[in-house]
Amino acid sequence: MQTAARGLEALLVERGVSRRAFLKFTGSMAAALSLPRSFGPRIAEALATAPRVPVVWLEGQDCAGNTESFLRASHPTVSELVLGILSVDYHETIMAPAGAAAEKSLSDTITAHPNGYIAVVEGAIPTAENGIFCTVAGSTFESIVHEVTTNALVTIAVGSCAFDGGLPRAHGGPTGAVGVKDVVPNAKVINLPGCPMNVQNLTATIVHYLTFGQFPATDTLGRPLFAYGQLIHDQCERRAHFDSGEYVLAWGDEGHRQGWCLYRMGCKGPETFSNCPTARFNDATSWPVKSGHGCVGCAMPDFWDQMSPFYRRLPSVPGAPSSVTPDEIGLGFVGAVGALTALHAGASYVRARRRSPEGASESETSSPSDLREPPAPGGPPPLSRTDLPAQGGDGNDLGSGRDGTHGQGA
Ligand code: SF4
Repeated sequence: MQTAARGLEALLVERGVSRRAFLKFTGSMAAALSLPRSFGPRIAEALATAPRVPVVWLEGQDCAGNTESFLRASHPTVSELVLGILSVDYHETIMAPAGAAAEKSLSDTITAHPNGYIAVVEGAIPTAENGIFCTVAGSTFESIVHEVTTNALVTIAVGSCAFDGGLPRAHGGPTGAVGVKDVVPNAKVINLPGCPMNVQNLTATIVHYLTFGQFPATDTLGRPLFAYGQLIHDQCERRAHFDSGEYVLAWGDEGHRQGWCLYRMGCKGPETFSNCPTARFNDATSWPVKSGHGCVGCAMPDFWDQMSPFYRRLPSVPGAPSSVTPDEIGLGFVGAVGALTALHAGASYVRARRRSPEGASESETSSPSDLREPPAPGGPPPLSRTDLPAQGGDGNDLGSGRDGTHGQGA
């Protein structure tokens, strides 16, 4: 491919990154987007000639955790280069200009590129008392979000706070915090919830646009299906222990040391749709469950209120169906999958107690060998989802490409 002097490939040459590493990256992006690996060369060609896309990154009520995630894009280093072909013209945390010069960068970008820049919003938006709880350069964050997102090519809400208000909204926080979509319901918004979001998902979303000229398919909550289309529970490396009735019962017990299932320690993986087990964090080295802590469901709506207490196991809800979609979960179906999980785990526990001549308490049965359960005849209850909408059948009108077309490009 004769593209050595153009686009991303020129950056690769300048920074000493080999073409082999670049192709490995494009292959990993194809995998992240749930595309066949044969799409790797197509992605490589598109990125080699991709134009620079202006980006403005706003921060409201946030901890900058998503910025931290963004700055640690290192899987591999060429991820940073992909983001480097974006022109990040305004980012309050990392930009060099300050004061009036910084605000000029923002106004110049949105004026010079109408409908041609990507707006990234991090943090919740306070709306109480006319939005005075967060102001930048004398303007409320709410008014800034209105102004910036109105003429954006697309708005990407990164992290749970920008998704639905997150922590500032928890338990009816006093600032009236909401997510981006609540403030600008008619804007094109892609939500990447998580606390923080995984930068791989941000990269893959942008790569999808640069390759196919349109943004990836999403569910009705605006979450890309490639990243939020599967239950964590169905991808978890501890799932075999769940199916075998092998549960951690106390932090540091033998089951914990053996890497058994964290369901009984409150893991919310059976209710949470995210690709954490496959994308992982910190250069794809680990994620919470791999490191020994249960999932807290941070990619789900209103997770601070809906998923807490984080160390209480999922409740039992009689009559729960065996499969759900992200949209069902996202619309208040909290606890449904957990019910089946609880039924399965509960049955295992009851069987264990019945076998125990002493009728020992849970704390007394903390030996993993005592709780090891053979799979039930016919196998464990099925928790795999079968009714996910196919990629491309989303409920979000974000299929508008650079050429104004709609639908899936992949
Ligand atoms: S309950 Fe949690 S730790 Fe256990 S298999 Fe499911 S996601 Fe993994």
